[in-house]
Amino acid sequence: MANAANCKKCGALFLQTSKRDICDKCFEEQNKLVSDINTYVLTAPAETVPLEEILTRFNLKVDEFEALFLAGKFVKVAQKVTMKCAKCGNIVPIAGKTNQLCSNCAKKLQNEI
Ligand SMILES: [Zn+2]
Ligand SMILES: [Zn+2]
Repeated sequence: MANAANCKKCGALFLQTSKRDICDKCFEEQNKLVSDINTYVLTAPAETVPLEEILTRFNLKVDEFEALFLAGKFVKVAQKVTMKCAKCGNIVPIAGKTNQLCSNCAKKLQNEI
């Protein structure tokens, strides 16, 4: 069943034919963005690429990146993209991350609870 829905991203009215909550145009743009980021990271000469660099370069918010990351869009590059642990400041690959924390701090936090 197709329902008319407002795109979560641009607000345009579109026919919702699947569980997707953004319109075709935004979906296509998102796909392009994901492949651009993947290509950028994979072809980067450096061994690792900081997450901030990607956010700045692609004008992306960390939430947006996270949503795509959780949707499994960056599996190929997850080991090459790094972020700073919010607690200890260690630079870690985003692949091992939970809530902006490195796996060490995430573990410690769990033990404390
Ligand atoms: Zn849209
Ligand atoms: Zn940490």
